[in-house]
Amino acid sequence: MAKEILIYAQANRSGKVIDVVLELANAAHDLSEKLENACISALLITDGRNLDENKHVLKKAGFNKVYIASSEYLKDYSTEYYSQIAIDLIKKIEPEIFLIGATTQGRDLAPVISTKLKTGLTADCTSLDINEKGQLAATRPTFGGNLMATILCKQFPQMATVRPKVLKKSDKNYEQEPLIIEYSPDLSNINKRVELLDFIANPQLTDKRIDEAEIIVSGGKGMKNEAGFKLLQELADVLGGSVGASRGAVDMGLADSSIQIGQTGKTVVPKIYIACGISGAVQHVVGMSGSDKIIAINKDENAPIFKQADLGIVGDAFEILPNLIQKIRDKNNG
Ligand SMILES: Cc1cc2nc3c(=O)[nH]c(=O)nc-3n(C[C@H](O)[C@H](O)[C@H](O)COP(=O)(O)OP(=O)(O)OC[C@H]3O[C@@H](n4cnc5c(N)ncnc54)[C@H](O)[C@@H]3O)c2cc1C
Repeated sequence: MAKEILIYAQANRSGKVIDVVLELANAAHDLSEKLENACISALLITDGRNLDENKHVLKKAGFNKVYIASSEYLKDYSTEYYSQIAIDLIKKIEPEIFLIGATTQGRDLAPVISTKLKTGLTADCTSLDINEKGQLAATRPTFGGNLMATILCKQFPQMATVRPKVLKKSDKNYEQEPLIIEYSPDLSNINKRVELLDFIANPQLTDKRIDEAEIIVSGGKGMKNEAGFKLLQELADVLGGSVGASRGAVDMGLADSSIQIGQTGKTVVPKIYIACGISGAVQHVVGMSGSDKIIAINKDENAPIFKQADLGIVGDAFEILPNLIQKIRDKNNG
């Protein structure tokens, strides 16, 4: 039987397959080459919304097979339904590897599946490879981000989650039609213990999702108080960007943890990342070092963030930011 790499094709609340699936697909092509050209397949769990577009997107990403578990009861994510559907499919097709995006949903789903299948899971990986023995070599930061560990899994499927934006999507548009296997999963024996009553969006995320923002104005402990973060919001507004934060700022209660950037927060790759009052600890840097241009404002000229920066401004952010905001406002007003 041909080897198979299965990828969880997570869809967003509008039913559209999200980018991390395409990032995983691209990585899977490299893995497949080293794994006897293993088949790359997707598992899409859906209530049928947006199905044609999703099939098209998965085709363009180069999937060879797409399993579509479809039911009107699968509109909203449910740990019990979704994990059981994945487990049933895995038992049937016995993939070598099962990859999931380390999104909020993926972080909920993956450990349930790996525990029930008694297999290993390497969470929050930053790169994936196949070693000389044909095993998945999943690499992730460890010991507070000071070391990278490559972890092997002895059981099958070898499971890993990978953060969104860490891997790159392919520029290629694959033409080959995937084999589509559509089925109605049997949900009757699943004990669904949680009912979704309502969805209330986090106001900090409704405006512009930080992981999709092209400009991020990020603040650390050096922004000191609410007034400091108000300045960051003003700068983000005039630039059309979003506000992010270091864990230092989140711990001080200046920002919500949903906008924390770094090892235990989000990974972001904006065009411009402006770090204000952030020292540049390694756990922060791993979440933003892929940004196209990094600008740092810090009053300590020896702050490690300057090693990452394309442009560094040594000075007090409380003096620099109001001037910068005013200058940009003047420019925007012509
Ligand atoms: C397991 C683990 C996971 C972690 N995960 C994360 C993570 O996901 N994200 C993260 O960010 N951190 C993370 N951390 C914490 C990380 O190690 C640092 O403690 C944190 O990033 C520091 O936040 P900071 O830069 O805001 O604060 P500080 O390190 O205290 O830096 C504040 C900076 O502000 C500057 N400053 C002060 N006043 C001004 C001013 N008026 N104008 C300009 N500059 C000023 C100072 O010179 C200083 O450089 C993690 C730590 C561990 C152990």
